[in-house]
Amino acid sequence: MKEKANPATASKSAAKSATTAKDILTPDAQLTEYRRKRDFAKTAEPAGEPNEVPKKAPAKRATRTGELRFVIQKHAASHLHYDLRLEIDGVMKSWAVPKGPSADPKVKRLAMQVEDHPVEYNSFEGTIPAGEYGGGTVMLWDTGTYSIEDAGDRAQNSAAHDEYETGELKLDFHGKRIQGSYALVRTKGNMRGSSSSKPSWLLLKHRDDDARSAEDPELTAEFTTSVVSDRSMNEISDAG
Ligand code: MN
Repeated sequence: MKEKANPATASKSAAKSATTAKDILTPDAQLTEYRRKRDFAKTAEPAGEPNEVPKKAPAKRATRTGELRFVIQKHAASHLHYDLRLEIDGVMKSWAVPKGPSADPKVKRLAMQVEDHPVEYNSFEGTIPAGEYGGGTVMLWDTGTYSIEDAGDRAQNSAAHDEYETGELKLDFHGKRIQGSYALVRTKGNMRGSSSSKPSWLLLKHRDDDARSAEDPELTAEFTTSVVSDRSMNEISDAG
């Protein structure tokens, strides 16, 4: 069971980025803040599988298929927002996007980084009880895979890890609703900052065949029901 299927590629990318397996935290280490904020006796959100040993499966899977997962959830918390989550290093790196994604290249959308979520969160739809962290209804607004455009010889997860650290991700979304090339760029704050001061990023569409103009409907206006269950926010909320 060799991790490095292609030593030439692995050493090349290691030389370029100086990122080694030791630099990648285990999912458990990345999920400490997520778990601390929640009482899993009260919320139906997933705690995530424990991974006391470094979990190699996501990286291997991503290497094999070249695909990393993403999810966008519409979340009616104290302020309505959309949560963008990208699979990197075995967890879902997460951003709260107050206005949601736009397909108009002239529009920049604020994306405030939040705590890493477990990959099990990708199938969560329901209502977090009032008074609990993030209390409110969560809708699965889009799911699918994404790829890093400039991955070159690097495995997709390795390229995503590098661009995340650099603070400039160039992504190609393969969703049912969000499609094509986007940039996610860190504008403020430090990667290693405390949990209370996470970085701000901007999400913006590149010009391509999937781009929309100001005259076209916004993605968030066109798609208002769950991509999985087709339910409205009210229907999800009513289901308890
Ligand atoms: Mn949220």
